[in-house]
Amino acid sequence: MAIILDGKKLRDKILEDLHIKISSYDKKPKLVVILVGDDAASQIYVGNKQKCAQKIGITSEVINYPSDTEEKIIIDKINELNNDGSVHAILVQLPLPEHISKENIINAISPQKDVDGFTPYNFGKLFSGEVPCVYPCTPKGILLLLDEYGIDIEGKHAVVVGRSNIVGRPMSQMLLNRNATVTVCHSYTKNLAQITKTADILISAVGKNIIKGEMLKSDCVVVDVGIFKDESGKLRGDVDFDSSSKIASYISPVPGGVGPMTIASLMLNTVELFEKTL
Ligand code: NAP
Repeated sequence: MAIILDGKKLRDKILEDLHIKISSYDKKPKLVVILVGDDAASQIYVGNKQKCAQKIGITSEVINYPSDTEEKIIIDKINELNNDGSVHAILVQLPLPEHISKENIINAISPQKDVDGFTPYNFGKLFSGEVPCVYPCTPKGILLLLDEYGIDIEGKHAVVVGRSNIVGRPMSQMLLNRNATVTVCHSYTKNLAQITKTADILISAVGKNIIKGEMLKSDCVVVDVGIFKDESGKLRGDVDFDSSSKIASYISPVPGGVGPMTIASLMLNTVELFEKTL
């Protein structure tokens, strides 16, 4: 039976350490979150981020805009925050309403305050094997979790399923930068099971229940990034836990695996950006 990669436990440890560190500073890190529209899931995510920040001593502010706000108004606000010395980290909650260009908004954020690591500058640094201002939160959290359990990455075959800018792409680069041999799969990949069967480390970020135990190599490490609700409203991951946990040596659960690590990484990134200004 696989060992559980416990993201909640590691998150709590990281947040406790950050709390102690932040209390030792006279100045406090400040995170500003921009939320456009009234998407229910986004409101919950932003609320959770704000609660977590406040709990550990990060000053956090949420700026709400109605869904019909013009792109320029948001870009002007980002420019104002870029020039505000009391703000260390800026996050624009995605998705944005359709009339707003996600690229234009992300491009407006100063790389030094880009807490998600999504600006072309930070992405470019990551993809050229250099050190960005911060690493994207979800892949960063996954590597912290693997490191916590002493899982070797160097020389391993890592298969990443999904190639989004939020998870799959930066994850594959971060694994490559750690000397894994990386295969990236997506919706056009043929014979997915043949590829996943060769993975020492399998990271699935799709949002559909597509990974079953029979698709895994014995004793592999499985990280389940997916979160979605099935027909009965139950929270699910990409990976069939029952069959997969019998084959894998380590597996992350949903919930309680990658999700808590993403929020821990956001807090770590906020503090890292703050510390660069001291
Ligand atoms: P996304 O932008 O929708 O990307 C999904 C990826 O899955 C795409 O690259 C897509 O391929 C690929 N895909 C779709 N069907 C596939 C199939 N049958 N076989 C192989 N690949 C397939 O999603 P995302 O933002 O990366 O998020 C993925 C999941 O992770 C979602 O459930 C999301 O809620 C969850 N998530 C969790 C956290 C967390 O903190 N736990 C953070 C972020 C995301 P194409 O590129 O070819 O379309």
